[in-house]
Amino acid sequence: MIWDFPYDSPSAIIELLERRGFAASKKFGQNFLISAPIRQRIAASMEPLQDAKLWEIGPGLGALTRELLLGGAFVTAFEIDHGFCSILREEAFPEEERFRLIEGDALKTWPAVYEKEGTPDIICGNLPYNVGSICIARFLESQCLPAMMVFTLQKEVADRLGAHAGSKAWSTLSILAQVDYEVTQLFTIKGGAFFPAPQVESAVVRLTKRGHPQVPVSKRTVFLEVVSDLFTQRRKTVRNNLLQGKTGARHGKEGVLEALALASIAESERAEKLDFEQLLRLSQIFQEMGK
Ligand code: SAM
Repeated sequence: MIWDFPYDSPSAIIELLERRGFAASKKFGQNFLISAPIRQRIAASMEPLQDAKLWEIGPGLGALTRELLLGGAFVTAFEIDHGFCSILREEAFPEEERFRLIEGDALKTWPAVYEKEGTPDIICGNLPYNVGSICIARFLESQCLPAMMVFTLQKEVADRLGAHAGSKAWSTLSILAQVDYEVTQLFTIKGGAFFPAPQVESAVVRLTKRGHPQVPVSKRTVFLEVVSDLFTQRRKTVRNNLLQGKTGARHGKEGVLEALALASIAESERAEKLDFEQLLRLSQIFQEMGK
């Protein structure tokens, strides 16, 4: 029997936390999703859940976890708040065989699970701003690449993940994500669907793994290094960013200017204008130059 807690009721949440002697913490971005239709919509976006090996980052009191378990997933939940962990373990899912809890900071705990068990089928989470982008970037950089990831994030981060070249939101995070994933923003969520209500809007994004990555694994290191240099300071030209970064240190001024010319990219261009094809071409030229 899965816990039938009234997750949509702020007073029930307060009462539960008071009874257990805990309080929601701003530090960990604890805003509970208090809309069953939205939780169901998020869970439905990950179908088929039946028997899927799924990681949930930040389960809180288990509101979304419940939907995932009802859908038939094997859930490994990573939660930093020890009070919430005790509620999850003792009250929410004590006898649920498909539920496993990893207590602690997910940024520190997931690598050991990954090393032992490999990539899950799905990763999801409703994540606070600071943790969300770092967590996603770490999965991508470490090549922990499940077939699907679904995150509820501050809309600004969701916009960056799915941004296109030429837009203000086009950034290292967009590029890193889109090397391996198609990114779709599914829907937005107003602050009132959370308790306590945050000031900002949130959005649910789904990352679906591409059949073939946009950058081959063998070219990734140089590609990501060049991208990281290019976006170091958005207001600066590509020339200056490259010269002041690792690329400049490796290839010198002459090499950087030659590569830009060969790639037909103006020295005065801004990185946000460069699309995937141009970035790939430029990094390929640096790769061929060696060093
Ligand atoms: N999933 C629940 C929901 O939708 O109602 C709670 C979401 S709340 C926005 C974020 C959750 O992530 C909280 O439970 C918080 O304690 C947890 N959290 C924050 N930082 C974390 C971290 N570094 N590792 C694991 N959990 C974290």
